[in-house]
Amino acid sequence: MEAFQTEHITCPKCGKEQEVKIYPGINANYDTEAKEKLMHNQLFSFTCEECGETTPLLFNCLYHDMENGLMVWLMPEAGDKELQEMNETVTQMQAFGMTATGLDYRYRIVRTVNELKEKLLIEQENLDDRIIELVKVVYLVQIAEQIGSHTVAEVMFDVIDDSYFFTVFYEEDSLDPGVIPLDMNVYRMVKEQYIEKLDSLKADNFQDISFLWAREFMFS
Ligand SMILES: [Zn+2]
Repeated sequence: MEAFQTEHITCPKCGKEQEVKIYPGINANYDTEAKEKLMHNQLFSFTCEECGETTPLLFNCLYHDMENGLMVWLMPEAGDKELQEMNETVTQMQAFGMTATGLDYRYRIVRTVNELKEKLLIEQENLDDRIIELVKVVYLVQIAEQIGSHTVAEVMFDVIDDSYFFTVFYEEDSLDPGVIPLDMNVYRMVKEQYIEKLDSLKADNFQDISFLWAREFMFS
């Protein structure tokens, strides 16, 4: 069972118009195929039936995992107004019993497909995304000298063969991404230090738990 809409898209390479599937929402418990596609980079792209060209396709998408109490809204263009509307939607869903009560729900907003995938990976590994973002800041402070005058574009959590690590992407295309293995002792230390403050800030609405958020949390 999949909840998708079809849209007509024109292939940018050969100009052939065709129908593609758009997923405004993914229910983790039912739309297992859509989730698989997402994790394999096949959901937010389409491959032309005429010329075979693959083109990225970006749309707003609400990922909902009712079993684990997680909602992640991918909304690339979201500003304050959109955030407010999203929070109103959640309030309505809560009123209609569409989000289970009694669960420790987490509501997150992300702006890129990679961030959405990262949130799901963190969830899959039973980690806390707030701690992961804070650990990123701790590591970047440690490697500040190596970073030097380069600009960090993104730091992404990843899992390969059961090992956790961060990939550091730089703004400068000429620089290869850096890799930092995640030491779970660091994770536990950060958790111990900040969990109380973090839990006191918990809110029943969409939160932008990102690297920028973590930097502000730690240094303000
Ligand atoms: Zn084409």
